[in-house]
Amino acid sequence: MADRNKKRCSFCGRYEDKVEMLITGIDGFICNNCVEQAHAILREEQLLPKSDFEMSELPKPKEIKAFLDEYIIGQDDAKCALAVSVYNHYKRLMQNGKDADVEIEKSNIIMVGSTGTGKTLMARTIARLLKVPFTIVDATVLTEAGYVGEDIESILTRLLQVADYKVEDAERGIVFIDEIDKIARKSDNPSITRDVSGEGVQQGLLKLLEGSIVNVPPQGGRKHPDQKMIPVNTKNVLFICGGAFDGIEKKIAQRLNTHVVGFDSVQNRLNIAKEDMMKYVTHQDLRSFGLIPEIVGRLPILTSLRQLDREALRNILTEPKNSVIKQYKKLMEMDDVKLTFEPAVLDFIVDKAIEYKLGARGLRSIVETIMMDKMFDIPSSGAKSCKITLEYAKRQLEKNNLSGALA
Ligand code: ADP
Repeated sequence: MADRNKKRCSFCGRYEDKVEMLITGIDGFICNNCVEQAHAILREEQLLPKSDFEMSELPKPKEIKAFLDEYIIGQDDAKCALAVSVYNHYKRLMQNGKDADVEIEKSNIIMVGSTGTGKTLMARTIARLLKVPFTIVDATVLTEAGYVGEDIESILTRLLQVADYKVEDAERGIVFIDEIDKIARKSDNPSITRDVSGEGVQQGLLKLLEGSIVNVPPQGGRKHPDQKMIPVNTKNVLFICGGAFDGIEKKIAQRLNTHVVGFDSVQNRLNIAKEDMMKYVTHQDLRSFGLIPEIVGRLPILTSLRQLDREALRNILTEPKNSVIKQYKKLMEMDDVKLTFEPAVLDFIVDKAIEYKLGARGLRSIVETIMMDKMFDIPSSGAKSCKITLEYAKRQLEKNNLSGALA
Protein backbone atom coordinates (compact mmCIF):
# COMPACT_ATOMS: atom_id res chain seq x y z
CA MET A 1 0.00 0.00 0.00
CA ALA A 2 1.19 3.50 -0.77
CA ASP A 3 2.83 5.23 2.12
CA ARG A 4 1.20 8.67 2.36
CA ASN A 5 4.07 10.20 4.32
CA LYS A 6 6.75 9.22 1.84
CA LYS A 7 7.63 11.78 -0.82
CA ARG A 8 7.20 10.70 -4.44
CA CYS A 9 7.74 12.16 -7.90
CA SER A 10 4.56 13.87 -9.05
CA PHE A 11 5.32 12.84 -12.66
CA CYS A 12 6.30 9.17 -12.57
CA GLY A 13 5.15 8.36 -9.06
CA ARG A 14 8.42 6.81 -7.92
CA TYR A 15 9.22 7.11 -4.23
CA GLU A 16 12.14 9.14 -2.90
CA ASP A 17 14.20 6.05 -2.06
CA LYS A 18 13.81 4.68 -5.59
CA VAL A 19 15.38 7.70 -7.34
CA GLU A 20 18.71 9.49 -7.04
CA MET A 21 17.20 12.88 -6.40
CA LEU A 22 13.83 14.39 -5.78
CA ILE A 23 13.42 18.13 -6.32
CA THR A 24 10.73 19.91 -4.34
CA GLY A 25 8.31 22.30 -6.05
CA ILE A 26 5.41 24.35 -4.67
CA ASP A 27 2.85 21.61 -4.91
CA GLY A 28 4.81 18.50 -5.73
CA PHE A 29 8.09 16.85 -6.57
CA ILE A 30 10.10 15.87 -9.64
CA CYS A 31 12.76 13.16 -9.79
CA ASN A 32 16.05 13.27 -11.69
CA ASN A 33 14.77 10.83 -14.33
CA CYS A 34 11.79 12.99 -15.17
CA VAL A 35 13.97 16.10 -15.35
CA GLU A 36 16.12 14.33 -17.92
CA GLN A 37 13.12 13.17 -19.88
CA ALA A 38 11.67 16.66 -19.91
CA HIS A 39 15.01 17.95 -21.15
CA ALA A 40 15.00 15.41 -23.98
CA ILE A 41 11.51 16.48 -25.01
CA LEU A 42 12.55 20.11 -25.09
CA ARG A 43 15.54 19.22 -27.23
CA GLU A 44 13.33 17.27 -29.63
CA GLU A 45 10.95 20.16 -29.91
CA GLN A 46 13.98 22.37 -30.53
CA LEU A 47 13.15 24.62 -27.63
CA LEU A 48 16.67 24.44 -26.26
CA PRO A 49 19.47 26.55 -27.67
CA LYS A 50 21.03 24.61 -30.52
CA SER A 51 24.69 23.82 -30.27
CA ASP A 52 25.01 24.16 -34.04
CA PHE A 53 26.32 27.43 -35.31
CA GLU A 54 24.58 29.90 -37.51
CA MET A 55 26.77 31.22 -40.26
CA SER A 56 25.76 34.78 -39.38
CA GLU A 57 26.93 34.49 -35.79
CA LEU A 58 30.37 33.11 -36.59
CA PRO A 59 33.23 35.54 -36.20
CA LYS A 60 34.78 36.13 -39.62
CA PRO A 61 38.54 35.75 -40.09
CA LYS A 62 39.02 39.52 -40.03
CA GLU A 63 37.09 39.77 -36.77
CA ILE A 64 39.10 36.94 -35.24
CA LYS A 65 42.31 38.65 -36.30
CA ALA A 66 41.11 41.99 -34.89
CA PHE A 67 40.43 40.27 -31.59
CA LEU A 68 43.90 38.73 -31.55
CA ASP A 69 45.35 42.17 -32.35
CA GLU A 70 43.98 43.49 -29.06
CA TYR A 71 46.21 41.14 -27.09
CA ILE A 72 49.12 40.19 -29.33
CA ILE A 73 51.67 42.48 -30.89
CA GLY A 74 52.78 41.74 -34.46
CA GLN A 75 52.87 38.14 -35.75
CA ASP A 76 50.37 38.98 -38.48
CA ASP A 77 51.07 35.90 -40.60
CA ALA A 78 50.38 33.54 -37.74
CA LYS A 79 47.28 35.48 -36.71
CA CYS A 80 45.83 35.31 -40.23
CA ALA A 81 46.58 31.59 -40.55
CA LEU A 82 44.96 30.89 -37.22
CA ALA A 83 41.92 33.05 -37.97
CA VAL A 84 41.30 31.34 -41.31
CA SER A 85 41.75 27.85 -39.88
CA VAL A 86 39.38 28.43 -37.01
CA TYR A 87 36.79 29.93 -39.32
CA ASN A 88 37.08 27.00 -41.73
CA HIS A 89 36.83 24.63 -38.82
CA TYR A 90 33.40 26.08 -37.98
CA LYS A 91 32.33 25.87 -41.59
CA ARG A 92 33.33 22.25 -41.78
CA LEU A 93 31.35 21.52 -38.65
CA MET A 94 28.30 23.19 -40.12
CA GLN A 95 28.57 21.08 -43.21
CA ASN A 96 28.94 17.92 -41.23
CA GLY A 97 26.16 15.43 -41.42
CA LYS A 98 24.53 17.24 -44.29
CA ASP A 99 24.75 15.77 -47.77
CA ALA A 100 27.71 17.39 -49.29
CA ASP A 101 29.14 16.96 -52.71
CA VAL A 102 32.42 18.43 -51.57
CA GLU A 103 33.69 17.20 -48.27
CA ILE A 104 35.80 19.82 -46.53
CA GLU A 105 38.86 18.34 -44.93
CA LYS A 106 40.30 19.83 -41.78
CA SER A 107 43.49 21.84 -41.89
CA ASN A 108 45.54 21.37 -38.77
CA ILE A 109 48.11 24.07 -38.17
CA ILE A 110 51.71 24.15 -37.03
CA MET A 111 53.25 27.36 -35.67
CA VAL A 112 57.02 27.61 -35.57
CA GLY A 113 58.69 30.36 -33.56
CA SER A 114 61.31 30.84 -30.87
CA THR A 115 60.26 30.62 -27.29
CA GLY A 116 58.50 33.70 -25.96
CA THR A 117 57.24 34.94 -29.31
CA GLY A 118 53.59 34.47 -28.43
CA LYS A 119 52.56 30.98 -29.60
CA THR A 120 50.87 29.97 -26.38
CA LEU A 121 49.46 33.45 -25.92
CA MET A 122 47.92 33.14 -29.37
CA ALA A 123 46.30 29.84 -28.41
CA ARG A 124 45.02 31.17 -25.10
CA THR A 125 43.65 34.31 -26.68
CA ILE A 126 41.77 32.52 -29.39
CA ALA A 127 40.29 30.22 -26.77
CA ARG A 128 38.35 33.14 -25.32
CA LEU A 129 36.59 33.66 -28.59
CA LEU A 130 35.82 30.09 -29.49
CA LYS A 131 32.43 28.50 -29.47
CA VAL A 132 33.85 24.99 -29.18
CA PRO A 133 35.76 23.20 -26.39
CA PHE A 134 39.44 24.02 -26.36
CA THR A 135 42.41 22.67 -24.48
CA ILE A 136 46.17 23.20 -24.37
CA VAL A 137 48.45 20.22 -23.84
CA ASP A 138 52.18 20.00 -23.53
CA ALA A 139 53.79 17.42 -25.81
CA THR A 140 56.75 16.98 -23.44
CA VAL A 141 54.67 15.07 -20.90
CA LEU A 142 53.40 12.59 -23.46
CA THR A 143 54.95 9.15 -23.70
CA GLU A 144 54.09 5.94 -25.40
CA ALA A 145 51.52 3.87 -23.53
CA GLY A 146 53.15 1.81 -20.83
CA TYR A 147 55.89 4.31 -19.96
CA VAL A 148 56.05 6.90 -17.21
CA GLY A 149 54.25 10.03 -18.32
CA GLU A 150 50.89 10.65 -19.87
CA ASP A 151 49.35 8.55 -22.61
CA ILE A 152 48.42 10.22 -25.86
CA GLU A 153 44.76 9.63 -25.01
CA SER A 154 45.10 12.04 -22.09
CA ILE A 155 44.83 14.82 -24.67
CA LEU A 156 41.29 13.73 -25.35
CA THR A 157 40.55 13.27 -21.65
CA ARG A 158 41.25 16.98 -21.24
CA LEU A 159 39.04 17.85 -24.15
CA LEU A 160 36.24 15.73 -22.71
CA GLN A 161 36.64 17.44 -19.36
CA VAL A 162 36.32 20.93 -20.82
CA ALA A 163 33.32 19.74 -22.82
CA ASP A 164 31.68 18.59 -19.58
CA TYR A 165 31.92 15.04 -20.86
CA LYS A 166 29.61 15.79 -23.78
CA VAL A 167 31.26 13.57 -26.34
CA GLU A 168 29.54 15.25 -29.25
CA ASP A 169 30.94 18.63 -28.24
CA ALA A 170 34.43 17.28 -27.56
CA GLU A 171 34.46 15.73 -31.02
CA ARG A 172 34.33 19.18 -32.58
CA GLY A 173 36.79 20.83 -30.27
CA ILE A 174 40.22 22.33 -30.81
CA VAL A 175 43.44 21.06 -29.22
CA PHE A 176 46.62 23.12 -28.97
CA ILE A 177 49.69 20.93 -28.64
CA ASP A 178 52.56 22.98 -27.29
CA GLU A 179 56.25 22.09 -27.66
CA ILE A 180 55.66 19.64 -30.48
CA ASP A 181 59.34 20.00 -31.42
CA LYS A 182 60.29 18.20 -28.21
CA ILE A 183 58.95 14.93 -29.58
CA ALA A 184 61.08 15.15 -32.70
CA ARG A 185 63.23 12.15 -33.50
CA LYS A 186 66.62 12.69 -31.94
CA SER A 187 68.63 11.56 -34.94
CA ASP A 188 67.93 11.27 -38.64
CA ASN A 189 68.05 7.50 -38.52
CA PRO A 190 64.82 5.78 -37.66
CA SER A 191 65.31 4.46 -34.17
CA ILE A 192 67.21 1.26 -33.59
CA THR A 193 66.51 1.33 -29.91
CA ARG A 194 63.10 2.44 -28.77
CA ASP A 195 62.58 6.14 -28.69
CA VAL A 196 60.06 6.42 -25.87
CA SER A 197 59.41 10.12 -25.93
CA GLY A 198 60.08 10.78 -29.59
CA GLU A 199 59.02 8.77 -32.54
CA GLY A 200 56.70 6.51 -30.56
CA VAL A 201 54.75 9.51 -29.37
CA GLN A 202 54.63 10.88 -32.87
CA GLN A 203 53.12 7.62 -34.10
CA GLY A 204 50.52 7.79 -31.35
CA LEU A 205 49.76 11.40 -32.14
CA LEU A 206 49.37 10.56 -35.79
CA LYS A 207 46.40 8.40 -34.95
CA LEU A 208 44.65 11.40 -33.42
CA LEU A 209 45.60 13.79 -36.20
CA GLU A 210 44.40 11.41 -38.91
CA GLY A 211 41.02 11.05 -37.30
CA SER A 212 40.13 7.82 -35.62
CA ILE A 213 37.96 6.51 -32.85
CA VAL A 214 39.99 6.49 -29.68
CA ASN A 215 38.97 4.94 -26.38
CA VAL A 216 39.50 7.63 -23.80
CA PRO A 217 39.76 7.09 -20.04
CA PRO A 218 37.38 9.74 -18.67
CA GLN A 219 39.49 10.38 -15.55
CA GLY A 220 42.76 10.20 -17.46
CA GLY A 221 45.89 8.32 -16.45
CA ARG A 222 46.28 4.74 -15.43
CA LYS A 223 45.40 5.30 -11.81
CA HIS A 224 41.84 4.23 -12.42
CA PRO A 225 42.24 0.95 -14.26
CA ASP A 226 38.58 0.00 -14.07
CA GLN A 227 37.09 3.19 -15.43
CA LYS A 228 34.80 2.78 -18.41
CA MET A 229 36.39 4.03 -21.62
CA ILE A 230 34.56 6.60 -23.73
CA PRO A 231 35.00 6.31 -27.50
CA VAL A 232 35.83 9.69 -29.06
CA ASN A 233 36.10 10.27 -32.79
CA THR A 234 38.86 12.75 -33.64
CA LYS A 235 37.86 13.20 -37.26
CA ASN A 236 36.61 16.72 -36.64
CA VAL A 237 38.94 17.81 -33.85
CA LEU A 238 41.19 20.63 -35.03
CA PHE A 239 44.81 20.38 -33.93
CA ILE A 240 47.04 23.41 -33.62
CA CYS A 241 50.66 22.64 -32.85
CA GLY A 242 53.37 24.99 -31.69
CA GLY A 243 57.08 24.61 -31.18
CA ALA A 244 60.31 26.58 -30.93
CA PHE A 245 62.29 24.17 -33.13
CA ASP A 246 65.58 25.47 -31.79
CA GLY A 247 68.26 25.13 -34.41
CA ILE A 248 65.90 24.71 -37.37
CA GLU A 249 67.47 27.84 -38.87
CA LYS A 250 70.46 25.71 -39.71
CA LYS A 251 68.30 23.24 -41.62
CA ILE A 252 66.60 26.10 -43.44
CA ALA A 253 69.96 27.67 -44.30
CA GLN A 254 71.30 24.35 -45.53
CA ARG A 255 68.31 23.85 -47.77
CA LEU A 256 68.40 27.38 -49.12
CA ASN A 257 72.09 27.12 -49.83
CA THR A 258 71.96 23.80 -51.57
CA HIS A 259 68.80 24.33 -53.55
CA VAL A 260 69.10 27.78 -54.92
CA VAL A 261 71.62 28.63 -57.55
CA GLY A 262 72.48 31.70 -59.52
CA PHE A 263 73.53 35.20 -58.80
CA ASP A 264 70.22 36.38 -57.40
CA SER A 265 69.97 33.63 -54.87
CA VAL A 266 73.50 34.15 -53.67
CA GLN A 267 72.52 37.72 -52.93
CA ASN A 268 69.46 36.48 -51.02
CA ARG A 269 71.49 34.03 -49.10
CA LEU A 270 73.82 36.73 -47.94
CA ASN A 271 71.00 38.97 -46.92
CA ILE A 272 68.97 36.63 -44.77
CA ALA A 273 69.65 37.33 -41.12
CA LYS A 274 69.39 34.46 -38.69
CA GLU A 275 66.24 35.90 -37.08
CA ASP A 276 64.53 36.17 -40.46
CA MET A 277 65.40 32.63 -41.47
CA MET A 278 62.31 31.28 -39.72
CA LYS A 279 60.15 33.01 -42.30
CA TYR A 280 61.36 30.56 -44.93
CA VAL A 281 60.56 27.42 -42.98
CA THR A 282 58.93 24.65 -45.03
CA HIS A 283 57.50 21.23 -44.27
CA GLN A 284 60.72 19.73 -45.52
CA ASP A 285 62.63 21.52 -42.74
CA LEU A 286 60.28 20.09 -40.15
CA ARG A 287 61.10 16.63 -41.47
CA SER A 288 64.82 17.33 -41.33
CA PHE A 289 64.30 18.46 -37.76
CA GLY A 290 62.86 15.08 -36.84
CA LEU A 291 59.11 15.11 -37.29
CA ILE A 292 57.97 12.01 -39.14
CA PRO A 293 56.63 12.67 -42.65
CA GLU A 294 53.16 11.40 -41.76
CA ILE A 295 52.81 13.97 -38.97
CA VAL A 296 54.13 16.75 -41.17
CA GLY A 297 51.62 15.74 -43.83
CA ARG A 298 48.80 16.05 -41.33
CA LEU A 299 49.73 19.62 -40.46
CA PRO A 300 49.19 21.30 -43.83
CA ILE A 301 49.19 24.89 -42.60
CA LEU A 302 52.64 26.00 -41.58
CA THR A 303 53.20 29.46 -40.21
CA SER A 304 56.07 31.12 -38.40
CA LEU A 305 56.37 33.71 -35.68
CA ARG A 306 58.95 36.46 -35.76
CA GLN A 307 61.57 37.13 -33.17
CA LEU A 308 60.38 40.18 -31.23
CA ASP A 309 62.53 43.26 -31.73
CA ARG A 310 63.00 46.20 -29.39
CA GLU A 311 60.02 48.08 -30.75
CA ALA A 312 57.75 45.04 -30.41
CA LEU A 313 58.89 44.50 -26.82
CA ARG A 314 58.23 48.15 -26.02
CA ASN A 315 54.72 47.81 -27.45
CA ILE A 316 54.07 44.58 -25.57
CA LEU A 317 54.72 46.44 -22.36
CA THR A 318 51.94 48.97 -22.88
CA GLU A 319 49.73 48.23 -25.89
CA PRO A 320 47.88 44.91 -25.42
CA LYS A 321 44.51 45.09 -23.69
CA ASN A 322 45.94 43.34 -20.65
CA SER A 323 49.55 44.50 -20.93
CA VAL A 324 51.62 44.13 -17.79
CA ILE A 325 51.75 47.90 -17.26
CA LYS A 326 47.96 48.18 -17.60
CA GLN A 327 47.60 45.36 -15.09
CA TYR A 328 49.72 47.19 -12.52
CA LYS A 329 47.84 50.43 -13.12
CA LYS A 330 44.60 48.58 -12.51
CA LEU A 331 45.90 47.00 -9.31
CA MET A 332 46.87 50.42 -7.95
CA GLU A 333 43.64 51.98 -9.14
CA MET A 334 41.75 49.58 -6.90
CA ASP A 335 43.47 51.28 -3.98
CA ASP A 336 42.60 54.69 -5.50
CA VAL A 337 46.21 55.26 -6.47
CA LYS A 338 47.23 56.66 -9.84
CA LEU A 339 50.31 54.86 -11.08
CA THR A 340 52.58 56.47 -13.67
CA PHE A 341 55.91 55.53 -15.19
CA GLU A 342 58.54 57.88 -16.54
CA PRO A 343 58.83 56.97 -20.24
CA ALA A 344 62.53 56.24 -19.71
CA VAL A 345 61.57 53.48 -17.28
CA LEU A 346 59.78 51.59 -20.03
CA ASP A 347 62.79 51.80 -22.32
CA PHE A 348 64.97 50.68 -19.45
CA ILE A 349 62.77 47.61 -18.85
CA VAL A 350 63.02 46.68 -22.54
CA ASP A 351 66.80 47.15 -22.47
CA LYS A 352 67.10 44.85 -19.49
CA ALA A 353 64.86 42.20 -21.06
CA ILE A 354 67.12 42.22 -24.12
CA GLU A 355 70.29 42.29 -22.05
CA TYR A 356 69.25 39.26 -20.02
CA LYS A 357 68.00 37.55 -23.21
CA LEU A 358 64.60 37.09 -21.64
CA GLY A 359 62.46 38.38 -24.49
CA ALA A 360 58.80 39.15 -23.83
CA ARG A 361 58.66 36.60 -21.07
CA GLY A 362 61.14 38.64 -19.04
CA LEU A 363 59.23 41.91 -19.21
CA ARG A 364 56.83 40.76 -16.54
CA SER A 365 59.50 39.61 -14.10
CA ILE A 366 61.37 42.86 -14.47
CA VAL A 367 58.26 44.96 -13.87
CA GLU A 368 57.38 42.79 -10.91
CA THR A 369 60.78 43.28 -9.35
CA ILE A 370 60.57 47.04 -9.80
CA MET A 371 57.06 47.22 -8.36
CA MET A 372 57.27 44.80 -5.44
CA ASP A 373 58.16 47.29 -2.66
CA LYS A 374 55.61 49.82 -3.87
CA MET A 375 52.90 47.19 -3.99
CA PHE A 376 53.73 46.39 -0.39
CA ASP A 377 53.89 49.94 0.96
CA ILE A 378 51.39 51.97 -1.03
CA PRO A 379 48.07 50.38 0.07
CA SER A 380 48.64 51.43 3.69
CA SER A 381 50.35 54.75 2.98
CA GLY A 382 47.31 56.82 2.07
CA ALA A 383 49.09 58.02 -1.09
CA LYS A 384 46.95 58.98 -4.06
CA SER A 385 49.62 58.70 -6.69
CA CYS A 386 52.78 56.80 -7.39
CA LYS A 387 55.38 57.70 -9.97
CA ILE A 388 58.10 55.27 -10.95
CA THR A 389 61.25 57.14 -11.93
CA LEU A 390 64.19 55.75 -13.84
CA GLU A 391 66.40 56.14 -10.81
CA TYR A 392 63.97 54.18 -8.65
CA ALA A 393 63.62 51.39 -11.23
CA LYS A 394 67.40 51.01 -11.52
CA ARG A 395 67.78 50.94 -7.76
CA GLN A 396 65.15 48.25 -7.35
CA LEU A 397 66.74 46.00 -9.95
CA GLU A 398 70.17 46.42 -8.41
CA LYS A 399 68.80 45.81 -4.95
CA ASN A 400 67.18 42.59 -6.04
CA ASN A 401 70.12 41.61 -8.14
CA LEU A 402 67.77 40.63 -10.91
CA SER A 403 70.55 39.89 -13.32
CA GLY A 404 71.75 37.23 -10.92
CA ALA A 405 68.31 35.81 -10.30
CA LEU A 406 67.24 35.56 -13.91
CA ALA A 407 70.38 35.03 -15.85
P1 ADP B 1 55.78 30.90 -26.53
O1 ADP B 1 54.58 30.03 -26.35
O2 ADP B 1 55.98 31.34 -27.95
O3 ADP B 1 57.03 30.36 -25.90
P2 ADP B 1 54.31 32.71 -24.88
O4 ADP B 1 53.08 32.87 -25.72
O5 ADP B 1 54.20 31.82 -23.69
O6 ADP B 1 55.53 32.25 -25.77
O7 ADP B 1 54.81 34.14 -24.44
C1 ADP B 1 55.28 34.44 -23.15
C2 ADP B 1 54.76 35.78 -22.68
O8 ADP B 1 55.35 36.83 -23.44
C3 ADP B 1 53.27 35.95 -22.90
O9 ADP B 1 52.52 35.59 -21.78
C4 ADP B 1 53.11 37.42 -23.18
O10 ADP B 1 53.02 38.15 -21.97
C5 ADP B 1 54.40 37.81 -23.84
N1 ADP B 1 54.34 37.84 -25.29
C6 ADP B 1 55.06 37.06 -26.13
N2 ADP B 1 54.83 37.39 -27.41
C7 ADP B 1 53.93 38.39 -27.40
C8 ADP B 1 53.29 39.16 -28.43
N3 ADP B 1 53.54 38.94 -29.73
N4 ADP B 1 52.42 40.10 -28.04
C9 ADP B 1 52.17 40.33 -26.73
N5 ADP B 1 52.74 39.66 -25.73
C10 ADP B 1 53.62 38.70 -26.04
